[in-house]
Amino acid sequence: MLAAIRLQQQHCHDFILLERSAELGGTWQINTYPGAEVDIPTSLYSISFIPYPFKKTFAPQSELLAYMNHIIEKFDLRKQAKTNQTVTKLTYDESESLWRVETASGERYNARFIIDTSGVLANPHIPDIKGAKTFKGAKFHAGHWDHSVSYEGKRVGVIGSGCSGAQIVPAIADKVSRLTLFMGKAQWVLPRSDRHYSAIERFVRTLPGIRHLIRLLVFIFYDIRFIAFRRYPGISIISRLMKSYYRRRQQKHLDKYIKDDKLRQHMMPDYELGCRRVIPSNNYLPALAKENVDVDISGIECITPTGIKTKDGKEIPLDIIVYATGYYAYSNMKKALTFQVYGLGGRNLNSEWENEAVSYKGITVAGYPNYFKVNGPNTGSGHSSQISYMQVATDYITQAIAAVKQDKSIKAIDAKQELQDRYVAEMRQKMQKTVWQNATVTAFYRKNMSEEVTSLSPEPVTGFIFSRKWFHLSDYNLLK
Ligand SMILES: Cc1cc2nc3c(=O)[nH]c(=O)nc-3n(C[C@H](O)[C@H](O)[C@H](O)COP(=O)(O)OP(=O)(O)OC[C@H]3O[C@@H](n4cnc5c(N)ncnc54)[C@H](O)[C@@H]3O)c2cc1C
Repeated sequence: MLAAIRLQQQHCHDFILLERSAELGGTWQINTYPGAEVDIPTSLYSISFIPYPFKKTFAPQSELLAYMNHIIEKFDLRKQAKTNQTVTKLTYDESESLWRVETASGERYNARFIIDTSGVLANPHIPDIKGAKTFKGAKFHAGHWDHSVSYEGKRVGVIGSGCSGAQIVPAIADKVSRLTLFMGKAQWVLPRSDRHYSAIERFVRTLPGIRHLIRLLVFIFYDIRFIAFRRYPGISIISRLMKSYYRRRQQKHLDKYIKDDKLRQHMMPDYELGCRRVIPSNNYLPALAKENVDVDISGIECITPTGIKTKDGKEIPLDIIVYATGYYAYSNMKKALTFQVYGLGGRNLNSEWENEAVSYKGITVAGYPNYFKVNGPNTGSGHSSQISYMQVATDYITQAIAAVKQDKSIKAIDAKQELQDRYVAEMRQKMQKTVWQNATVTAFYRKNMSEEVTSLSPEPVTGFIFSRKWFHLSDYNLLK
């Protein structure tokens, strides 16, 4: 949607948005699980030039979806969209310098430029648990919440205690008869400043000068936290102080709500702050302390027809099992990418990225002319708003398209291999200094969950902006 708006603003209207869902809106249209909300204040998790009178600091899914719909209406995006169109294959036709686009419905399109905004966290990850098929109750992934199944008064098991699990548990705890959380590794869970805005404040917060100032302050507050995530020479003391402050804060938060010694110890991470996405929440720990909520930390042995058997021998009867087990990011390229991409000489991006997820600036890839990716490898945010990274990428892409269109002799641009190699080497070097690359924990942002970091950016947003703010045609081979 952001790319479409930027194209419109450049008076480029000859494009089509292909969406596999029945509606536009992406993440916040698809993820409707109870408690779903953003973990970054909306003053930053919003498009910088499209204000909206959000009702609270961390907006729930319903409000984010309303924001998406506001954008769709404002820019009349449905006019240029085709929904229920699942792209299956992109093939670069060298003789015509065109991309041939295939879809599951059989419709075909030709495009000079491709902007791939198919998302990173688009495909739910469901672990292969012994006996899962035998379960007689309802079971579904958080990302595909089955609203036809009522959870009120039911015995519900939530598998997974990452960002979505930590949102679902407090949202449903009071309505279910019994809730069991099957907790994985400890997470960093920190209290946050969240509040509702009055009608006047909502209006004032959308006024140009004030809105920009608030956004800047929140931007700085979040980006400065990057110091804790990457080792910078000369300021390691600041990083250590930040980490020890957050460790104390987490301990205090745990001491206040988790009375069970074993659980409290389990919930204190034995890895550095930020190795897994920090969960900002005020209601998750209090929910765990509720009388009808149990937490299993022994692990799942298997799923049975009537519930879940744990490794410490308990049999927990359940009516509903919810997989809050996340998504395939670039941990598993086969599952994360939703269509095949064939570039120059029949090269296949999917198999190349399964081997090594390389790109130029996380946006273009040598060998794939006029193909642009938003949220490509190593452009994920581990500490701030993903929208900031996406805005930078879409601005870069629309600059690139304008430059190619302006010079009539150029048919396509292809990232220079030597520049891409240099960029990849530089990213890897920076990544070595981050908490993610050196962590012993498994995470969705690593190749095969434990190897090279393929999703997250080793740069703070500020660095990301300045290294991509200006598109240079000279970085590309010009195909004429
Ligand atoms: C539950 C959840 C919570 C999140 N919370 C936060 C947060 O708090 N803060 C943050 O910074 N980030 C968060 N994110 C990350 C979030 O994905 C990004 O912030 C942002 O929404 C990504 O936008 P996108 O347009 O790249 O992808 P998406 O929003 O995922 O949109 C991709 C779209 O492409 C469509 N699509 C995919 N494949 C095809 C295909 N083959 N053919 C046609 N259409 C296709 C999908 O249906 C989808 O509509 C969250 C992600 C999830 C899943």
